[in-house]
Amino acid sequence: MLFLDKLFENCRSLGGKTAIDFHAEGFRAGGAAATVSYGGLGAAVERAAAWLHGLGIRPGDRVAARLPKSPAGVCIHLAACRIGAVSMPLNPGCSEPELLYFLRDSAAKLLIADEAEAPDAARIRGQSPALRRVIAIDAASFDAFAGGVGGSVDGGAAPACNIAPDTTALMLYTSGTTGRPKAAELSHANLTASIDALDEAWQWRADDVLLHALPLFHVHGLLVALHGALNAGASTVMLRRFEPAAALAALRGSGCTVFMAVPTIHARLVSAARSAKIDAGRLRLLTSGSARLSEDLFRQLRDLFGREPVERYGLTETGILSSNPFDGERRPGWVGLPLPGVEMRVADPADNAPLADGKVGEIQTRGVHVFKGYWRDAQKTAAAFSPDGWFKTGDLGLRGADGYFQIRGRSSDLVISGGMNVYPLEVERVLDSHPAIAQSAVIGCPDAEWGETVTAVAAAAGEPPSEKELIAYCRQRLAAYKIPKRVVFAEELPRNAMGKVSKPALRKIHCKDCR
Ligand code: AMP
Repeated sequence: MLFLDKLFENCRSLGGKTAIDFHAEGFRAGGAAATVSYGGLGAAVERAAAWLHGLGIRPGDRVAARLPKSPAGVCIHLAACRIGAVSMPLNPGCSEPELLYFLRDSAAKLLIADEAEAPDAARIRGQSPALRRVIAIDAASFDAFAGGVGGSVDGGAAPACNIAPDTTALMLYTSGTTGRPKAAELSHANLTASIDALDEAWQWRADDVLLHALPLFHVHGLLVALHGALNAGASTVMLRRFEPAAALAALRGSGCTVFMAVPTIHARLVSAARSAKIDAGRLRLLTSGSARLSEDLFRQLRDLFGREPVERYGLTETGILSSNPFDGERRPGWVGLPLPGVEMRVADPADNAPLADGKVGEIQTRGVHVFKGYWRDAQKTAAAFSPDGWFKTGDLGLRGADGYFQIRGRSSDLVISGGMNVYPLEVERVLDSHPAIAQSAVIGCPDAEWGETVTAVAAAAGEPPSEKELIAYCRQRLAAYKIPKRVVFAEELPRNAMGKVSKPALRKIHCKDCR
């Protein structure tokens, strides 16, 4: 059964049960707090679907929404999927040039923006030929689709839509570590496969309560977290944005059973808790993903919550590929085993020949979870697959003899020094294990003699150690060619909207030859 059918079945059968609770701090300022039941959500999505249909949106049209986390944002996303259109949630913090790029590239027909930050409609339309309408709504208003916005367009009901599994449901722009962001097209079958696999692996239950602190314009917050909960018929406590004190308050004995986050959020929680243990009540599943979870942070989370985090690994193009087991060993520094239905292999990135266990190569994957391709870019899509149909993740890693996978970093971040491969993650792990280092990132800087030299940028946890001391620390733990030639200290590491360290930004800042 497709995710959308399951959602509507839940809306019918669960009626008054809470689907999403927008009561949390941060939503109150914008209007009366709201708890949306499954029945209420189903009705609001229908009204939003009718509204979109009334605005002329038809199957296949791209609906761009630049909205903060809000009931309206959730309804518009699900409604676009419901009528066979393509939901395109955008980062509400994106700049106008970025917005214009997304609109032009996707040829979106409609842009819905929050009235608090609505762009100049005439200017935007003038520069995006396919764009028919720009509509500003009060996203913070809880009745946007209970009579307000939805009721203001006399669209009647949206016609029933027969959705084929390979209909595109969603387009998400990938962070674009190289070149301009590309839109990954995800079908209803892709979304369903990912959710079903996680449902089994993480044992989602109808009585789960998810604490949601992630953005809704990224696969992690939207698909892994929100869709996962809606699919299971569970309840979601929605935080408008991550704020350590509010999240800690919500986690303390609140009855939340599931919390998903990225390492940056986890690190901020650990530091806000100031080593006081948290009685996390019913919390049964604490996950980390989207970036590397250091072994230190793994242990700090275990000490804080009294539970081991479950680290998992995935990409926008594929959804989650692997996870440490819910029942079984959660291994720090490893991203676990492939999810049910997901094939993963490690192959030589040059000729795609599979490699033996323990050898580092490119992680590749195959299965229903793999996306349709990059929007209107047959060339990039073709380049992303091996001739025998495996998706090339661009991540380097290995499979251990017992089937667990480990990530060693993006292949574009690999440092080749004196002809030897240096995997940044291996060096970062050592640096991060130094008690005075909060987080490090390793890049390669061009060098006439070595080709590239290993350069480390480190944020200290307090008083920074000297460069000499840190290099000596590495010397005790790493082969000579992996030892950073230079260590630069920085207050903070540059990050993207998901809190991931941006290596291109690091190179620009700290490597004069990369500028
Ligand atoms: P995105 O498409 O924005 O979700 O980014 C996907 C990329 O995030 C992957 O290709 C990996 O490089 C990285 N990533 C995701 N999960 C992990 C993890 N658990 N450990 C290390 N890197 C990760």
